[in-house]
Amino acid sequence: MYRTHTCGELRISNVGQVVTLAGWVQRVRKMGSLNFIDLRDRYGITQLVADEHNKEVNDLVEKMGREWVIQAKGEVIERQSKNSKIETGEIEIKLHEVTVLNAAVTPPFTIEENTDGGEEIRAQYRYLDLRRAPLKRALELRHKMAHEVRNYLSNVGFMEIETPYLIKSTPEGARDFVVPSRMNPGEFYALPQSPQTFKQLLMVAGYDKYFQIVRCFRDEDLRADRQPEFTQIDCEMSFVEREDILNTFEGLAKALFKNVLGKEIQGDFPRISYADAMEFYGSDKPDIRFDMKMNTVTTLLQGNGFSVFDTAEYIGAIVAKGCAGYTRKQLDELTEWVKRPQVGAKGLVYIKLNPDGIKSSIDKFYTPEQLKAVADKIGAQEGDLILMLSGEKKKMQGALGTLRLEMGNRLGLRDNSVYAPLWVCDFPLLEWDDETQRFYAMHHPFTAPKPEDMEKFFSNRKEDLEQVNANAYDFVLNGTEVGGGSIRIHDSKIQERMFEVLGFSKEDADYRFGFIINAFKYGAPPHGGIAFGFDRFCSLFGGQETIRDYIAFPKNNMGRDVMLDAPSLIDNAQMEELFLVSTAKREEK
Ligand code: ASP
Repeated sequence: MYRTHTCGELRISNVGQVVTLAGWVQRVRKMGSLNFIDLRDRYGITQLVADEHNKEVNDLVEKMGREWVIQAKGEVIERQSKNSKIETGEIEIKLHEVTVLNAAVTPPFTIEENTDGGEEIRAQYRYLDLRRAPLKRALELRHKMAHEVRNYLSNVGFMEIETPYLIKSTPEGARDFVVPSRMNPGEFYALPQSPQTFKQLLMVAGYDKYFQIVRCFRDEDLRADRQPEFTQIDCEMSFVEREDILNTFEGLAKALFKNVLGKEIQGDFPRISYADAMEFYGSDKPDIRFDMKMNTVTTLLQGNGFSVFDTAEYIGAIVAKGCAGYTRKQLDELTEWVKRPQVGAKGLVYIKLNPDGIKSSIDKFYTPEQLKAVADKIGAQEGDLILMLSGEKKKMQGALGTLRLEMGNRLGLRDNSVYAPLWVCDFPLLEWDDETQRFYAMHHPFTAPKPEDMEKFFSNRKEDLEQVNANAYDFVLNGTEVGGGSIRIHDSKIQERMFEVLGFSKEDADYRFGFIINAFKYGAPPHGGIAFGFDRFCSLFGGQETIRDYIAFPKNNMGRDVMLDAPSLIDNAQMEELFLVSTAKREEK
C-alpha cells in the first residue's frame, strides 16, 4: 500500500497513529537540528519532520529537492507551532522511514499558492502549474459544477446524449475548423460550433429533454479570453414555450448557486427585453449588481443653443451617487477615458450637485434651475454627479453603458462575490450587414421569429424584416452572457423562408441544410433550448475573470497549445495521404 492517508487528511485526533503518506516535496527547511518537509498531494500539505537521531532518514531528506516524489512513514504528533492556515496545521509526522519514489529536476517556477513563474513558462509546463492549489481549486469547482448539472438535469428527466464531432458545418456565425477526409478525397468534415442541428434532430426523434456537456469548436480571431475549443452545457426540450425553458434553467442555475456556492437566490430572475437592456444599461448583457440606470434626456436638454446637444440624436445621463466632489483633474481624466476608441465618445458633460449649488460644464447654456429640473427628473440628489454623453443613439448608448460599468468599478459596486443573474429576451431576429449587404441571424438561423411578427417576416421590405423580433433569450450573470437559446422554427416552410431571408439560394440551402429542412417534414414537435458557456460559468462561480484557469489544458490567445507546441506541420506523406498539396509540391510550383 503506497499510502494510508492523503496529505490533507490528518488531524489532532490522529495523534499517535503510524501512517504512510505519498506525495511531492514542496519544500525542505532546516531549523536547528531538525529538517522539515512540506509534503503535497491533491488534497493538501502535511508537514514531515526528520530529526538528527534517525541518521539514515535525515541524510536522505537533506539530499531531497523540490518536487521529488516520496513515500514517508512515521508517527502523527502534535505540532509545537501550529499553522492555522492549513487544515493539517495542528499535526506533523515524525519520520521513521522515507523512500524516494522518483527524483525530480528542479521545476522552472515555484509550485506554491503564489508562484514566481510567468504565464508563458507556466503554460509550457502546464502539468506543473496544475499542481498549484489555485488551479486545483478551479478544476475541483468545474468538476462540482458538471456533477451538479448532471444531477439536476437527470432528476428532472433529461437524458445526456452524445452527438458527433466530425460533422458538416453548422453555422453559428464563426468559421469552422475542418478535418480532411482520407477516405473521401478532397472532402472535409467540420468540427461542430455547437450540436445545434443534432439536438433539434433529437427532438424530431422524440427525445424531448436532451442535454450534453459538450466540446464546441470555433475558428474565431481570438479576442481576450476566448478559446478555440470550449465547453457548453447544451440543452433542448420539446413541447415547451419560452417560459417553460426559462423556468427549467432558472431551476438549474439556482441549484448550482445553492449546491456549489452555498448561495440561495430568492425569487425569480428578472426578465428584461433587449430594447430595455439597451436603453437602461447600454448593453445586451447588463450588469445589474448595481443600479445606476441610464436615462434618456434628449428632449429635456435640446433647444438651448448648445449645438452639441441640439444636433444629437441621443443624450443619455447616468448618476454617480456621492461623486459631486470629483475634482477637475478626475473629470478631465474621465473625459479622456470616454474618448478612448474602445468607448468612442467625443466628450463628456457633467453636472455636479454640490451642497453650495450646481456646477456643470454647460453652465453657459443652462440656468441652475434647468439643470436642477434635469437632476430631479433622473433622481439625482445633492452630493451626486451626473455624467452625460451625446451623439448617435446606438453608439452613445453603448458608450454610456461602458462608462456606467467603469463608474461601477471605480465605486466598488461590482463585487465578484455578489451574483445578479437575469434573462434578456426578445432580441431582434436579424442583423443587417452593410458590407455584405445581407441579413445575418442574430442568434442562429434556427431561431423562430415571434409569432406576432410573422407577417413582417414574410415581407420583402428591409425595414419590416429589421423589426422582426426573435423568440430568443440570453442568461446573463454579472455583465457576462453565460447562456443563450431560443424557441426554434419547427415548420419546414418557415425554415426555408429563413434561409431565403439570409440570402441562401434554394440549392445552397438544400445542399447545406437539406437534412434538417427535410426532417421537419416528418413531424417535428415545437421545441426550444439553450446552451450555457460552461467554462465561463465556472470562472464566474470562481470569482475569476479568465476562463483559462478552469480548463485543464487551454490554448493561448494565438490559439496555440504551447505545451504541445500545436498546431504544427505534418509531414509530406501525411499531407499527400489527405490529398492536401504538400509543402514540397507547393515549393516546386
Ligand atoms: N447553439 C446555440 C449556441 O451555441 C445555443 C442554442 O440556441 O441552444 O449559442
